[in-house]
Amino acid sequence: MRNCLIFLVLLVSVQCNKVFIGDQVLRIDAESDEHIELLQALENEQDWELDFWLHPVSSELPVDIRVPYASLNAVKDYLKSNNIAFSIMIDNLQERLDEEEAEMEENKERERNSRSFNFGAYHKLETVYSWMDTLVADYPRVVSKEQIGLSYESRPMYVLKFSTGGAKRPAIWIDAGIHSREWVSQASAVWIANKIASEYGTESSVTNLLNAMDIYLMVFTNPDGYVHTHTSDRMWRKTRSVNPGSRCRGTDPNRNWDAGFGGVGASKNPCSDSYHGPHAHSEVEVKNVVNLIKTHGNFKSFVSIHAYSQLLMYPYGFSCKDVPHQPELDAVARDAVKALSSLYGTRYKVGSICNIIYPASGGSIDWSYNLGIKYSFAFELRDTGRYGFMLPANQIIPTASETWLALKHLMMYTHEHPY
Ligand SMILES: [Zn+2]
Repeated sequence: MRNCLIFLVLLVSVQCNKVFIGDQVLRIDAESDEHIELLQALENEQDWELDFWLHPVSSELPVDIRVPYASLNAVKDYLKSNNIAFSIMIDNLQERLDEEEAEMEENKERERNSRSFNFGAYHKLETVYSWMDTLVADYPRVVSKEQIGLSYESRPMYVLKFSTGGAKRPAIWIDAGIHSREWVSQASAVWIANKIASEYGTESSVTNLLNAMDIYLMVFTNPDGYVHTHTSDRMWRKTRSVNPGSRCRGTDPNRNWDAGFGGVGASKNPCSDSYHGPHAHSEVEVKNVVNLIKTHGNFKSFVSIHAYSQLLMYPYGFSCKDVPHQPELDAVARDAVKALSSLYGTRYKVGSICNIIYPASGGSIDWSYNLGIKYSFAFELRDTGRYGFMLPANQIIPTASETWLALKHLMMYTHEHPY
């Protein structure tokens, strides 16, 4: 009976988990606009089932594509025949996934034995949710856990609220993991939450900040997607909502905000990874955040954490026109990046989303900026494309530590520049 159960469990896990045996991630260096056009044509080649980790936008930026094993020859032939240079960034994606999984298992065992939470490891949703209770228990005077609603699949959505009193003090919003496969984002947010709580009362800038302002931090902005990356498809990016009339599920929750909704850089095809959804705020995960921000009404900064590419960006994404506060936002971001780089020398680029990566409509920080939250920023964390979304766990704490310096700069600046 026991063997049979184990067999069943194995069978289920084999059936449920999407495998990537032999899949490669190619790094492509386009040299001309013509190359970019040829690569963009690949985005419409649905039979090859390509997964663009970095989209082709300009010859100044790399293009990373996960190519399923079955399409490898065809894609490589296409690139070679068009004289487009490429290298293999990840040789066999499944091997990296297996390593990651084994590491998580080992860590689970270690944590069980030591009865402590390891910030340098990737965790399942429920593990982090219960860690949040420990954090609240350890620092009850400064942090609380608030449920802001349910996800599409009815998971609670929690925000960690750092507050030392007062009613609707000016506040800072930080969210992570709106794209579920960008794991270093959620993992860094966990480390940062612990940092904020533990530094109140011991470190002067955090103490001053929390004596005047509140911080809201959402570790899992897309909880269903995150669970899906653990149980079924590590490369899942979107929400898990059903799209009537389509076999494909999910909306890109960062094309779903009411800011240039449905415009450039978003897809109307439900099978696309950048599908904008049927209407603005159609995704309950987005709607829950919108409701909280609007009801609160006193947010002064809005920061969204993504990966990867090492960028610190400000609005707009939906238009390449400068926002009215462009000079100030640019200067603040540059100083923040200077602080970040001071730790390990990690290099970041700064600019508006549209100018630094590509036009992308329906993004969260465009929405928050248009709502009047001047200090709206988005991070793309490590790396620049050695591991991409598969950033090894031993880089979580270094990534979080350097990001914290930038974040602290943004928060302190907001605190010192009331409006
Ligand atoms: Zn993202």
